[in-house]
Amino acid sequence: MRCWAEIDLAALERNLALIRKSLPSGVRLISVVKADAYGHGIHPTATRLMQTGVDTFAVANVKEAADIREMGSGWPILVLGPLLAEEDQALLDYDLTAALSSQEELERFQALARKENQEISVHLKIDTGMGRLGVWWENALSLIEAIKQAPEIKLCGILTHFAQPSDSGFTKEQRKRFLSIIEQAKLEDEPSFLIHADNSSSLRSFENNSLFNAVRIGLLQFGIASPRGSLLGGLEVEPVLSFHSKLAMVKELPKGTSLSYDRQYTLKRDSRIGIISAGYGDAIPLHCGNRSNGLIQGQSYPLIGRVTMDQTLIDLTDSRDEIQLGEKVTLVGKQDSREILLSTLAEDAGTIPWELLCSITKRVPRIYRTKRE
Ligand SMILES: *Cc1c(COP(=O)(O)O)cnc(C)c1O
Repeated sequence: MRCWAEIDLAALERNLALIRKSLPSGVRLISVVKADAYGHGIHPTATRLMQTGVDTFAVANVKEAADIREMGSGWPILVLGPLLAEEDQALLDYDLTAALSSQEELERFQALARKENQEISVHLKIDTGMGRLGVWWENALSLIEAIKQAPEIKLCGILTHFAQPSDSGFTKEQRKRFLSIIEQAKLEDEPSFLIHADNSSSLRSFENNSLFNAVRIGLLQFGIASPRGSLLGGLEVEPVLSFHSKLAMVKELPKGTSLSYDRQYTLKRDSRIGIISAGYGDAIPLHCGNRSNGLIQGQSYPLIGRVTMDQTLIDLTDSRDEIQLGEKVTLVGKQDSREILLSTLAEDAGTIPWELLCSITKRVPRIYRTKRE
């Protein structure tokens, strides 16, 4: 293999257990596995999550939802994104729950449910300040009334989404708007009715015995801790994914030589340059050249020059021992006592962990470690 991602499903399982243990009792865990389980691969990931005991899955669209449903019945699957009209039928075919945002969707779902003589389950999504999906909170009550008048539609939950969890003032305002709707709407008070807002980085809604009884966890379960303070911010989750490649060539180049496209790096000394057999065509972000490092034999070496589609350059001049061709290069993960976090690589590259995970391409085989320690 020229490069590969290692995915430690036992670590995923331990993270889940840790998260669950840290949540107040009775709070349901909605595992967010959109975008191929954040690049980890939906089938192995969701299978392990099913064994681990998540309560509900959430995905972005009906295609992703159908993939999970085909793995087994029994788990509620919430589709977070809006459905295109031609996708509505999938709600019934795959027994899915939709996040409903508008009167127009309600009417479509009602018509379908009537035609098929079945019920359609929804969570109502409220826009409290994200400015994206959801009914604007000031218009929510009339939509709730309309849902209550629709016998074909089963309202199973209500949610909102925070725009900037790091801004506690704005988040507090969003939470207040959300709770005011719930209080005015006199929603059903049964434990199976889910009230949720928090994602990995905003788990603060559980202070003061609030009404919330579910969380939507994406990034955190994959072991990428929230950088900002939050209820679960201090959790010692373990990275699930690591990314490795191999050293394909080593060469000596004289001082003054410029490297790679656009000649963004010029050697300041006679140097030994390694060529790693992976580039942005795999997962190494374009903008991490001259910023990030790679680990070889437990030592850290700087990536230099611009990352290219298939190769990345690494400065091995300071290596004491000879490094053999074919040696493993770790770009995310651990070697001995050193570790490169995915969030560090993302920051070096000027992006966010979510995007970096989504940019691991098809060319990268995913190798699964399944063994429990
Ligand atoms: C992706 C997503 C989440 C999960 O967010 P993380 O920060 O990855 O935990 C939660 N809610 C909605 C609506 C989402 O789209």
